[in-house]
Amino acid sequence: MTTLAATKTLAFDREHLWHPYTSMTEPTSVRLVTGASGARLTLGEDHEVVDGMSSWWSAIHGYRHPVLDAAVVDQVGAFSHVMFGGLTHEPAVALGRRLVEITPEPLERVFLADSGSVSVEVAMKMVLQYQRGVGRPDRTRMLTVLGGYHGDTFDCMSITDPVGGMHAMWAGLLPQQVFAPQPPAYDASEAEIAAWATTLRHIADQHHHELAGIIVEPLLQGAGGMWPYAVECLQVFRDVADEHGLVLVFDEIATGFGRTGHLFVSELVTPDILCVGKALTGGYVSLAAVVTTDAVARGISASESGVVMHGPTFMGNPLACAVASASIDLLLGQDWQAEVHRIGSRLAAGLAPLRELPGVRDVRTIGAVGVVQLDHPVDVVAATDAAIEAGVWLRPFRDLVYAMPPYVINNDELDQLVAGIGAAVRAG
Ligand code: PMP
Repeated sequence: MTTLAATKTLAFDREHLWHPYTSMTEPTSVRLVTGASGARLTLGEDHEVVDGMSSWWSAIHGYRHPVLDAAVVDQVGAFSHVMFGGLTHEPAVALGRRLVEITPEPLERVFLADSGSVSVEVAMKMVLQYQRGVGRPDRTRMLTVLGGYHGDTFDCMSITDPVGGMHAMWAGLLPQQVFAPQPPAYDASEAEIAAWATTLRHIADQHHHELAGIIVEPLLQGAGGMWPYAVECLQVFRDVADEHGLVLVFDEIATGFGRTGHLFVSELVTPDILCVGKALTGGYVSLAAVVTTDAVARGISASESGVVMHGPTFMGNPLACAVASASIDLLLGQDWQAEVHRIGSRLAAGLAPLRELPGVRDVRTIGAVGVVQLDHPVDVVAATDAAIEAGVWLRPFRDLVYAMPPYVINNDELDQLVAGIGAAVRAG
C-alpha cells in the first residue's frame, strides 16, 4: 500500500467509522494494519510489532496459521454459509462433537451463537426459561459479582460491573440484577475468602425467591479489571447455586481454551451452562457457543414455548465452525500447557521489576496473562505510542497495562513484549 493510499484510508476511517469505545467526532488515532503473521502485526508500510493482545484474547495461534487458513479455504470450497433452521452440516456437527468431548462431562447440549455477547444473552434467556420450565416463573434476576464484564448488549451490561457498565447512564433501562462483592484476590487469606463467602450467602438468602441464576467469569475477571481471584470462590458459587436451585453460568469467553492454564476453568468446578467464544475460532471469525447440561435442556423444554426462543441468521456458520474445529485440534495436538506455562513464567519474571516503578500499584500474572496495575488512569495515547516505539502492540485500559499474547509467541518476542510493557508503564 502506498503512503498516499494509506493516508486516504485513514482519513476515511477517521470521518466515517466508529471504533470500539471511541468518539466519532473526536476520535483518538488508529493504526493501519497491513499484515499479520505469527505473533506479529505489520503497521503502515513496514513497522512490525509484537502482538500482546491476541486481538482481544482470541488469536491464540497467532495470525495466518497455515492449518487455520486451510480450514477456511477448504470450507469456502464447499459452502460458506447455509441457514441452521431446518438444515445442518458436518462443520457444525464436528464442532459440537468436539465441544461435548472437551468440556466437563455433564455439559452436552450445544447452542452455537454468533458472538460472545449473544452467547451470554442466550445463556440468560435459557436460565429464565429453565426456571419457568420447573415452575418458578418468579425467578427472574441474576446474581453476579462486582468487577465483572460480560459484553455490551443490554442484558450483558446489566450483569457487568455497575461502574464499568455505566448503569447510572442507563438507569431505568437495564434489568436490575443482584450484585455481591468482588471475589477476593487469588492470594487471599482463608479468613478473607470466608468473609466474602458469608456475604455472598447472605445476599443469596435475601433474594432467593427472585433469583434465577448466578453468572460469573470463573477465576479471572477480564475486561472488568484483569482480576485473578481465589479458586475457592468457584465452589462457593456452585454450593450457593445448589442450595437455592439457581442455574450456575460460567462465562469462559475470555478464560476458555487454556488462557488461565486450565483448558476450561469449568474443569475445577462445573457449571450448568458454559459460554465460550473469542479463542474458539483461534480468532479467525466471530463465533461463540453455549454448552448446557441435559437437566437445563430438559427444564427449557418444559417451559411454555418448549424451545429456546433464539435463532440468529448466522447460527452455526460453517466457515466459523470449520476453523473452530481446526483451532481446537491444533491446540490439543500440542503441549499447550507447557506453552502457557512458558509464557506465564517469562511474563512473571520480566514484569516483576516493574513493581519498583513509581506509579505502579500491582503486578500479577495468571496463565498466559500479565498485568501491571497503576495507581492512576493510564494515559492510553502516550502508553500506546511508547509501546509501539518499542515494537509492541498493547491496548491499555483504565489503570491497567496488560498482555495476553498468542501462544505461538517465542521467547525473544516475549522479552520484547516485556520491554514494551515497561515502556508503556513509564509513559502512561
Ligand atoms: N464475556 C467476556 C468474559 C468477555 O471478555 C467478552 C469480550 N471481551 C464478552 C463476554 C463479549 O464477547 P463479544 O465481544 O464477542 O460480544
